[in-house]
Amino acid sequence: MGVSDEHADHRIELVPGYPDGPVVGVLPGGAGHLVMVGGAGRPTYLTRSPAELSAWRATCSCGGWASAPWTRVSSPADEDLAGMRVHADDADALAVVERPDVIAAATALWLRDHLARLQAVAVVREAAQRVELALLALDDAVAGARRAGASWESIGAAAGITRQSAHARWARRPTGGRHR
Ligand SMILES: [Zn+2]
Repeated sequence: MGVSDEHADHRIELVPGYPDGPVVGVLPGGAGHLVMVGGAGRPTYLTRSPAELSAWRATCSCGGWASAPWTRVSSPADEDLAGMRVHADDADALAVVERPDVIAAATALWLRDHLARLQAVAVVREAAQRVELALLALDDAVAGARRAGASWESIGAAAGITRQSAHARWARRPTGGRHR
C-alpha cells in the first residue's frame, strides 16, 4: 500500500526484529537474517535464524514512522494482533511479514498513527493556500474599486477596517498590483 504527498512516498513495510539488533540483510534460502549488533559505532554482523525472531515492527518508507513492536508469543492461544502479540512456529516465522491479517493490523495502525496525521496537516496547508488566494482576490477587488473612484473610507468600510487602515494597506500598491 502506498501513498504520496509533496514530501515523500509512503509505503508500509513489516520489518522483522531480533533481540540484539536491527536486521540489515536477508540470508538466502530462508536461512534468516543478517543482524547488526554493537551499535553503529562498532558494528558486528551476525547471522540469526528465524527461530530467534522476537518481534516485528511496521515502518514507513519515508523514514518518519515506526510502530511499536509486535512481540512473538510461543502459544497460538496467546496471539492477539490488536494487542501486538503474534504467534509463529519457527518454520513460519519468516513468513509473518506476508500474513494478510498481520499486514491488515499493521496497515490500520499506519493509517491512523501516521497517514491520518499527515493528511490532517495537508488540510491545514490547503486552507492556508485558500487564505492566500482570498487575500490576492481582496487586493484585486480594492484595486478595482480605486479605479472605479471609490474612497478609502468606503473601501475600508467594505473590508471591515478603518479608512486609515485601508489606506495604509493598499494605497502604495500599484493599481491592480499584488500584495507581495
Ligand atoms: Zn511515511
